[in-house]
Amino acid sequence: MSYDPNNIFAKILRGELPSDTVFEDDEVLAFRDINPQAPIHVLVIPKGEYLSLDDFTRDAPADVVGRFFQKAGEIARQLGVDGDGYRAIANIGSHGGQEVPHFHLHICGGDWLGRMIARE
Ligand code: 5GP
Repeated sequence: MSYDPNNIFAKILRGELPSDTVFEDDEVLAFRDINPQAPIHVLVIPKGEYLSLDDFTRDAPADVVGRFFQKAGEIARQLGVDGDGYRAIANIGSHGGQEVPHFHLHICGGDWLGRMIARE
């Protein structure tokens, strides 16, 4: 599967669709999920064209991968969820339940999130 430049997050990155941005720099954008699953639900995405955590960690330079996760941690602290804790989720492919084919890390917090995996 190759990267689809018309996916929703690519459109958000190009400014063709709006987003409720909480952080942005030259490499990373973070914005609130349109359908939040927790009181705080933010998506952190790299600006580079990666389908999922799989090709991101395989193809992106190690410093880019490192900075991405450092920034994700900073964003969680900025959101104030670090104290009570939160969940960081990367869904990958069909078994992972990934819907948008641009790598994103969900940061969910603000309440007890229940056990980790529900198989519906
Ligand atoms: P996935 O299932 O791919 O891991 O998660 C995709 C997430 O993107 C879902 O939580 C969904 O609510 C969110 N989402 C889908 N479309 C949009 C959109 O247009 N704007 C925002 N902010 N979030 C979206």
